[in-house]
Amino acid sequence: MLRAVAPITAAHWSRAIAMPNTEPPIETIAQAVGYKKEIIAACQGDALTSGFEPLMTFYLTKNLKPSEIERGASDAGGTNIYGVKYYPYGATTNSQWGYRNVLEAKDVLATMEKVGMPLLLHGEVHVDERGEEVDPYIGEQAFVKEILPQLLETYPKLKISLEHLSSAEAADFIEKHGKEQRLAATIPAHHLLYGRTDIEKRPALRSKPLVKDNSDKERIRTLVTKGLPFVFAGTDSAPHPESKKLSPPIAYGVFSAPVALELYTQVFDELGALDTLENFLSVSGPRFYGLEPSAETITLIKKDWQTTEPVVTDEGVKVWPICDAKHGLGNETIHWQLTR
Ligand SMILES: [Zn+2]
Repeated sequence: MLRAVAPITAAHWSRAIAMPNTEPPIETIAQAVGYKKEIIAACQGDALTSGFEPLMTFYLTKNLKPSEIERGASDAGGTNIYGVKYYPYGATTNSQWGYRNVLEAKDVLATMEKVGMPLLLHGEVHVDERGEEVDPYIGEQAFVKEILPQLLETYPKLKISLEHLSSAEAADFIEKHGKEQRLAATIPAHHLLYGRTDIEKRPALRSKPLVKDNSDKERIRTLVTKGLPFVFAGTDSAPHPESKKLSPPIAYGVFSAPVALELYTQVFDELGALDTLENFLSVSGPRFYGLEPSAETITLIKKDWQTTEPVVTDEGVKVWPICDAKHGLGNETIHWQLTR
């Protein structure tokens, strides 16, 4: 799977945050070094993908040690670690190793605050104090109301990114409390394109946190075009084989890497905000992670096209991206195209 999908991300982007919810989870420097090598090896041999840099992360498991955070803050151990991702136990793909409540990880969070390593949040409350499952349509709103303020108060210098923001409540919170080098949010392209009814008609588009109502989508579309330096692109591209997406039980997560850049451009164009697109795609993210923006350029043209082919692994397993026209996976005609 990695060999099939990594070159696609590398062909579109100079860097990517490599999420750690693999099996087994990435929780040591040695594992991160190994995974980074595998990603780079998967991208070799293609002129378009040379120079691609995967930015490695840790999974906030109960085994993650503060000493690994300290070593990961510099590349002394073999690779820099750019963040630690929190997955609420049971909420999404491979979340079985996560804490039920991020606030339990006290020593790790204190060390991250000390060394300046960002906490990347899958910001959802999945179970309440009594252990009962929370309605997944309000899990993010509950997290933003109950957990995020406690995190900000307990760790006043911790860098936090609320990943794949999906609700109007979270957008309001970020607009009010977001701050460069302190509290940021990332937005996947599919949260700018689809509302709850679109997903209910096309279960293959299911992802976590769940896409919310059209009013939430409209609120997020407004948020991204304000040019705020703490709101930037994060595709949340998650490849699953067609057997897990086109027939039940359907895995959460959508494969967006082949089309995300074009979709963001389409949305910013629709909203008359192309002048803020570069910061959103290429400047604010690197700044959050303490990196210079890439010096390379890409060219996008306004031209309709469709994606109709899957990405295929060496074993012949098919992975269909969002917008696929063969299966009607939403927004089947894409209005902007990346040229080579
Ligand atoms: Zn996530």
